Amino acid sequence: MKKISILVPCYNEEATLHLLYMELRKLIDSQNNYEWEVLFVNDGSKDNTLNLIKELRKNDYHINYVDLSRNFGKENAMLAGFDFVTGDCMVIIDADLQDPPSLIPTMIQEWEQGYLDVYARRAGRGKESWIRKKFSLLFYHILDHSTRFDILQNVGDFRLLDRVCINALKKLRENERYNKGLFCWIGYKKKEIVFNRGDRIAGQSSWNFLSLFNLAIEGITSFTTAPLRFASILGGSIALMAFCFLIFYVTKTLVYGDEVKGFTTLIASIFFLGGIQLLFIGILGEYVGRIFNETKRRPPYIAYQYNENIIQ
Ligand code: UDP
Ligand code: MG
Repeated sequence: MKKISILVPCYNEEATLHLLYMELRKLIDSQNNYEWEVLFVNDGSKDNTLNLIKELRKNDYHINYVDLSRNFGKENAMLAGFDFVTGDCMVIIDADLQDPPSLIPTMIQEWEQGYLDVYARRAGRGKESWIRKKFSLLFYHILDHSTRFDILQNVGDFRLLDRVCINALKKLRENERYNKGLFCWIGYKKKEIVFNRGDRIAGQSSWNFLSLFNLAIEGITSFTTAPLRFASILGGSIALMAFCFLIFYVTKTLVYGDEVKGFTTLIASIFFLGGIQLLFIGILGEYVGRIFNETKRRPPYIAYQYNENIIQ
């Protein structure tokens, strides 16, 4: 019998965990021609999530869990999941039921047809602010035009991956992970399913605009690269200010005449170029910072416990 693993990264999900479990339970009961595993990765939750998972495991042998030593972020928590899932395929799903488990049977059907990566594309983006939507559009646009492989838009982590994909992903041990990109990078035969993404049923999204922005500039920055980012933000603002300054003074000079010849343009262009230079030093810094983080060769996560066993 084929085995299907469901991977659920969890960070402070005590409010939603039980509802998710009920949904998954329904699914497992309705699909008894497969063997099932539900693997929770507790990503250093500060609430009661871990105890709830342990409680569920007591009554249901399908449930396994990995407990990370602290919060490593969703991207790395997912890698922990890839390492520990035992199924012939795996479905990655958020704990907050924004990804409907009712879609999983369709995914399995496509998998049985021979597709190795069945991903769900959101038809709409739900209750997101206008600016967030625009930003994500811009982000995909930049990524799509700067890489060799297709970056899929409006596609999250909700997908079914065959064992061959899991093994390929396990080989990619980078610290600065951006899994959505890696799923595309590994290639393999993909199939799309469209669905409507709902809103969180309970609890709070742990993402804010800034954290999404950071993810967008590729992965989560470690504390040491933050000053470099600061340089790029500062440079950008100076350049913008200088640009406004330039427009203002040039217009003023055109309308009211010029007291000292060339003064305004000179000042404005010094500021503008200074800003641009800082901006690009900042961007360079982003890359140097990534090199710095990768050369340390730290493991992307540390697991403390797999089920009842402490990992030594
Ligand atoms: N998550 C995680 N570690 C984190 C942040 C989030 O494992 O540091 C999990 C979270 O528990 C949830 C999923 O990642 O299962 C998606 O998180 P969230 O709903 O906050 O993100 P959004 O839906 O807003 O993208
Ligand atoms: Mg969510």
